Amino acid sequence: MKALRLEGIGHLTVAEVEKPKPGPNDLLVRVEACGICGTDRHLLHGEFPSTPPVTLGHEFCGIVEAAGQAVSDIAIGARITGDPNISCGTCPQCTAGRVNLCRNLRAIGIHRDGGFADYVLVPRKQAYEIPLTLDPVHGAFCEPLACCLHGVDRAGIRAGSSAVVLGGGVIGLLTVQLLRLAGATTVILSTRQAAKRRLAEELGATATVDPSSTDIIERIAGNDGLCPGGVDVVIECAGVAETVRQSTRLAKAGGTVAILGVMPQGETVEIEPFDILFRELRVLGSFINPFVHRRAADLVASGAIEIDKLISRRVTLDEAGAVISHPPAAGEVKVLVIPERT
Ligand code: NAP
Ligand code: ZN
Repeated sequence: MKALRLEGIGHLTVAEVEKPKPGPNDLLVRVEACGICGTDRHLLHGEFPSTPPVTLGHEFCGIVEAAGQAVSDIAIGARITGDPNISCGTCPQCTAGRVNLCRNLRAIGIHRDGGFADYVLVPRKQAYEIPLTLDPVHGAFCEPLACCLHGVDRAGIRAGSSAVVLGGGVIGLLTVQLLRLAGATTVILSTRQAAKRRLAEELGATATVDPSSTDIIERIAGNDGLCPGGVDVVIECAGVAETVRQSTRLAKAGGTVAILGVMPQGETVEIEPFDILFRELRVLGSFINPFVHRRAADLVASGAIEIDKLISRRVTLDEAGAVISHPPAAGEVKVLVIPERT
């Protein structure tokens, strides 16, 4: 079978590899769709730790083609979405219920072979069944949606909350939708590209701002701004220094800042601790998707999340390497790899 392999930092190739054989607790899944994520670019450039050589792809959906002998509760032919993050269950973090912070965390598509391939092995406990009537491309959105869901949960949104989302990539645009579903009545998205601002407004943002032409602190939190004094919750979804710097200044006194964006390890940003202290800000990280994959899959299956508008293009396995090797094209939100088109 074909697989898109990260051979080492900066080195991606499409290779012919052996079709994997399921162990006792595994499912062999024929991949129908697998999303390309900002994290795949970070992995390629060595900005996020991985263990090459490995097949990338952690946002996959597909059909169970075979199952190991210990698996009895899922049918051959079922459609599943995979939670790629495998925790050990026994380290101090896992036993305290913080499975996403597991010391031995291994992820499908990062540390073991993933979904940019014709087939992927998925431990049964990482698989979540979704309807056969669902568009499999929608199934590939469960993983990124789960990460956004954890962020929105962590941020503590309540009905009537006000929020700013920084960065209009797929994470930011899914977060805008979840914030509205969770009851936020003011949701402002900051992103540089006009096409993404328009899209955000279609998806439920109550206002959008262009950080390249406006001082967004003044425009949002200033006396004559959209939310004078700032908002209840700021969700950073760009992973760049500028937005991290903006985040604490946009939260109102007593507000919350959740960092979802991945900045390269080792990079630093200047912040003003006095500002955090004097206004008692809650600044927190939100890492991956503990215990939310089922909810994310149900949300996708329910149709409550607009997904089609987030799909920019579908590519083959052969085309995927070039997509990951370049920054997203203008206006591009999510690119899906469809292996069987190869
Ligand atoms: P993405 O497509 O690269 O989106 C980031 C967006 O930020 C870009 O589309 C860009 O849009 C916008 N941006 C860049 N500079 C900006 C600025 N100065 N001000 C405002 N917006 C700016 O990536 P993604 O897939 O949505 O992911 C976003 C981040 O979350 C990445 O760092 C990714 O690694 C991370 N992530 C984290 C988790 C987690 O568990 N926490 C899970 C998945 C992904 P414009 O060009 O329109 O500005
Ligand atoms: Zn653990």
